[in-house]
Amino acid sequence: MNAFDEVNLSFDRAADRLDLDDGTRDLLKKPWRELTVSVPVRMDDGSIKVFNGYRIQHNAARGPYKGGTRYHPRADVDEVRALASLMTWKAAVANIPFGGGKGGIQCDPTTMSEPELNRMTRRYTVNIHHLLGVNRDIPAPDMGTNSQTMAWMMDAYGSIEGYTPGIVTGKPIELGGSVGRDSAPGQGVVYVMDEAAGDLGLTVSGARVAVQGFGQVGSWVARAAHTRGCKVIAVSDVEGGIYNPAGLDVPRVAERYRQCSRLAGFPDAETLTNAELLELDCDVLVPAAIEGAIHKDNADRVKAAVVVEAANHPVTPEGDSVLNDRGVQVMPDILVNAGGVVGSYFEWTQNLYQRRWDEREVNAELRKIMAGAYRAVREVVRREQVTFREAAFLLGVGRVHRAAKLRGFV
Ligand code: GLU
Repeated sequence: MNAFDEVNLSFDRAADRLDLDDGTRDLLKKPWRELTVSVPVRMDDGSIKVFNGYRIQHNAARGPYKGGTRYHPRADVDEVRALASLMTWKAAVANIPFGGGKGGIQCDPTTMSEPELNRMTRRYTVNIHHLLGVNRDIPAPDMGTNSQTMAWMMDAYGSIEGYTPGIVTGKPIELGGSVGRDSAPGQGVVYVMDEAAGDLGLTVSGARVAVQGFGQVGSWVARAAHTRGCKVIAVSDVEGGIYNPAGLDVPRVAERYRQCSRLAGFPDAETLTNAELLELDCDVLVPAAIEGAIHKDNADRVKAAVVVEAANHPVTPEGDSVLNDRGVQVMPDILVNAGGVVGSYFEWTQNLYQRRWDEREVNAELRKIMAGAYRAVREVVRREQVTFREAAFLLGVGRVHRAAKLRGFV
């Protein structure tokens, strides 16, 4: 089963409960438009490499397509479809006025120089630019891309269409990015944890948290959790992680990581593998890196009481049922990691109005939206007696279905 099929298992379960007919399921499940492009790049050694690029527009019933751009060797068409559909449900759960889309290039950005990445990003943007627009489709960063990538995309788009800062989100502040957009994925996770703590029997302050991944999501989750008073006992990157049962000094870890791009060797901590991190004795486990990190072969060894899906699709369906059977609460990606796209919504809004919010305003609005999304999902959990994932899909699919119906599609 590929990633898109896996996401659609959750969709189908929601569609069953909503009693949707086959045609309506097709309309909501299938991407509305898919573009595959060849991205030829002149490499630094003079050779030419041609990469596969995608922009998949899953659904725009509730607003323009919105979603990140992934540079990764596994970013194939099924992966990008899965991620595009998750964006549709995520924006609907957060109740922000976006549909869902995703783009990507199947490449390994860690082996490419900055000039190569710059050329590849520009070519990709030129090849997909006719699909984009501030009221059509707005890309953002995702795994393997960052604010610099967005600056190149904005520049490449602007050189064809004229200055259009709102065409991408997750930009550098100097080019119209928003304060608080970087930290929004982490802040969003902590705001949901705060709201859910009572229901989950969790005390956030002092909770032992392990975070897999120390990139644009994981590092911000660790920082926000540390600031909130959690004990962040372990963090990891692709090479492996560091562990201190008394709690890591996260700001120091982050500062050192900024300087040398690796966690290994951090003083006052033991090293551990990514597999060991997932099986640590902790209160909250946060997979914030790759898809499928928790699966049928390791889910029975997860000791955390709560799994918080900061990454997209980090738990396979089989892993999910093992966790559910064992009474481990799983807070689903389309609820908890919406902070990133909500931050993007604020950036886009500021770009459209050509004005700036301060960080206090951004975080206050983010808290309001994340807490509201959690409460709406919890109400469905209680009413329908389902898991948080089932409830989030019921809410998201239901909202998109209503919008499609009102527009007259079904
Ligand atoms: N890539 C992020 C996500 O998967 C953010 C997308 C966006 O801001 O549009 O949610």
